[in-house]
Amino acid sequence: MARNTGPQCRLCRAEGQKLFLKGERCYSGKCPVTKKRPAPGKGPRDRQKKKTDYAVQLREKQKLKRTYGMLEKQFKIFFTRADKMAGKTGENLIILLERRLDNVVYRMRFASSRNQARQFVSHGHVTVNGKKVTVPSYVVKVGDVVEVKENSKKLQIIKESLKEYTRSGVMPWITVDPDAMKGSFAALPKRSDVTDLSEIQEQLIVELYSR
Ligand code: SF4
Repeated sequence: MARNTGPQCRLCRAEGQKLFLKGERCYSGKCPVTKKRPAPGKGPRDRQKKKTDYAVQLREKQKLKRTYGMLEKQFKIFFTRADKMAGKTGENLIILLERRLDNVVYRMRFASSRNQARQFVSHGHVTVNGKKVTVPSYVVKVGDVVEVKENSKKLQIIKESLKEYTRSGVMPWITVDPDAMKGSFAALPKRSDVTDLSEIQEQLIVELYSR
């Protein structure tokens, strides 16, 4: 499965904002974005350059794509699917990305980052409605039950990740039973529910792909 394997923090520094790609470290003082160390080519002098509309739209797309750890081809597939749905394409896109199985595993706190969640899924540690699913881009439906596979429940790394559930709970459209390592995708989120992506201007991505 193709994925971006480069240094994660560099991606955040290039965008000038946190994309939360490395689990716990992202919330600590070790995060280079928190330390406000500018990425190479992003110093005060560079900020004086006026960006073109295209550059602004492209950056917005890169931010969203990198947040979900996707490569261009698959991101475009999701965009095309979102475009065919009723309603606003940009909002549809974010909601569709939230329904990816790797993202749901991350949101349920079974993994500390989307990257780790993707590995758990592809290594066969996760079931959907009782059946093993190894495709991270699998799109879950409302009411689907996502569970850590029985013989994977002893994995310390999953128990460690679930400590985040105790600290900060889960998003409102998800329910989790941390002891059973099982959760439900209880409802479709609204765009405004996805509060940690509130800075993303998805309309710019729609404009980019409409060029
Ligand atoms: Fe690195 Fe996480 Fe900070 Fe991004 S948010 S720079 S991945 S520590």
